[in-house]
Amino acid sequence: MKPLEQLSKEDLKPIKMVVFDVDGVLVPRGTKIHQEGNTTTLETKIIAEKQIEQIRNLNEKGFLVNISSGRGLYMLQEMFRGILPFVSLTYENGSATWNQGKIYQHINSFEYLKDIFPKLKNVVDGRIKGFEPKEFIITIHCTEKVKKIEDVVAQDANLCTVWNGEAYDILVRNEQTKALGLRRVREIFNLQRENIMAIGDNYNDRELLAESGLPISTDRSRVEGTFYIPLESDRLPADVLMQKILSLE
Ligand SMILES: [Mg+2]
Repeated sequence: MKPLEQLSKEDLKPIKMVVFDVDGVLVPRGTKIHQEGNTTTLETKIIAEKQIEQIRNLNEKGFLVNISSGRGLYMLQEMFRGILPFVSLTYENGSATWNQGKIYQHINSFEYLKDIFPKLKNVVDGRIKGFEPKEFIITIHCTEKVKKIEDVVAQDANLCTVWNGEAYDILVRNEQTKALGLRRVREIFNLQRENIMAIGDNYNDRELLAESGLPISTDRSRVEGTFYIPLESDRLPADVLMQKILSLE
């Protein structure tokens, strides 16, 4: 992997779309969630005005912008409200994409997840903080890994858990990945793999980055990229990347 400083104008030539992971890339890692009985409290993170402005500038330079997150659509719409006219939102780990008010569903996970959901609800463990509201995947926030959750999911060969350091995503194995979302987004916008630059920091970004022509890793211990941005930087990785792209244009 090469440091991002080595990214050249030549590397950017085929790029028509930049795909951003959200947590750890456009906002710091960490989700505040609290669940008590039927009341779930979930903090909405704010995208800094500087990053909104950078995304706007990328768009003006002719780049399409896609957001690819494990979060739900309701939350992403809130975070990107000011720039919705020119970003598409791929949500819940590649399950669906919102573009210009139209929703494209990429997978039907209902049959896969309907029986496991009550079983997971029945797991009692003090380290479980709560279930994040989702439509196509199950996301359980925990203070640390909880083996009982992994054991319940392991009973179903069609499913897998992905632990990201603060939550488990329960997903349809091999299918419900950000790569699925990216393949469909490429169809929607009529793009090829080499037209895509993607940036991500976590295990659920592996498939996304592998599916893009120019992958950028912001955590070398978790994901592979052609280029990397050091995690220890005091600036957000998306800030570093967009500044670099804009300086080359
Ligand atoms: Mg992330």
